[in-house]
Amino acid sequence: MTATPVSAAALAEPSPYAALAALETRVAAIGFRLTTANAAWCPVQQPQFGWIWGDPRLYDPDRRVEALAVYGAGDRDAAFIAGIAPTAPAAAAGMRVGMAVLGMQGAPVPEGRDAHPFARITAIEMQLAALRPTAPLALDVGDGATLNLTPVAGCVSDFRVEANEKPGAIADGRMVLVNQGLAQFASDDDELAAAIAHELAHNILRHRARLDAAGVDRGLGKQFGRSARLFRQTEVEADRLSVWLLAGAGYDPAAAASFWTRFGQREGRPLFQAGTHPNWRDRVAALTTEAAAIYAARATGKVLQPPLIDAPPPLE
Ligand SMILES: [Zn+2]
Repeated sequence: MTATPVSAAALAEPSPYAALAALETRVAAIGFRLTTANAAWCPVQQPQFGWIWGDPRLYDPDRRVEALAVYGAGDRDAAFIAGIAPTAPAAAAGMRVGMAVLGMQGAPVPEGRDAHPFARITAIEMQLAALRPTAPLALDVGDGATLNLTPVAGCVSDFRVEANEKPGAIADGRMVLVNQGLAQFASDDDELAAAIAHELAHNILRHRARLDAAGVDRGLGKQFGRSARLFRQTEVEADRLSVWLLAGAGYDPAAAASFWTRFGQREGRPLFQAGTHPNWRDRVAALTTEAAAIYAARATGKVLQPPLIDAPPPLE
């Protein structure tokens, strides 16, 4: 046997940040499509640029150089674009992954209020979300260069990817956080879009604020009694709306049932969600019912009209 020479580069492990960066662009694209294609249904809108932000402050100092190199970002302490939807106006205007953003509308980007690694990104996103949804935006991208972008009006939500192997996602009212493990679990973009649409539906339906207003227990009491019942109600609502968000954005409405079936059957699923989440078989039955309603509306040429958005039932 003769050994085949292998170059040192081929032997080198790919950086874990490369997979993270690829997923950020994928989630940016899905989030942009879900929020903008469904904008007309959303009672509150914000500008959507189709990007996910990055910041050198997110990385341990000993990994920072490696991470920034993956994104093609410079080594200065500036927020940068970590992922961008290929169809977004930001991409058409010349925005690219790794590009630093030093200023917006003629002022330096906000620094954020505390030392949390995400503080600057959060401050930037909140400042942008408060702008008129289609107002042009001038970005200082360094070296005296300015990029002028016109966003697309979309439903409320920014998107973030977490380097977390657990197949989970969170909606906090203004943000959808997608774990890397969730994207690995989804079989394709339609299934990943189904999971993201569920979280986006929580934000569109203002579940976090409405649960807080209803005084639910977010601690141990979450699993029991009235709090558990109200959490379950929001889960059912997010499931129902998610199927319509998929359909409205041109994804396969059946992907919701297929994703949540596999998710419900997976090994090692946490039992502690038993109180706050409906049984997965009931969820899949409800998702299938919504998809059937969409197919029926399409077959008769009716305009799709999603449930819940205009008047979600009270949480009480
Ligand atoms: Zn949920």
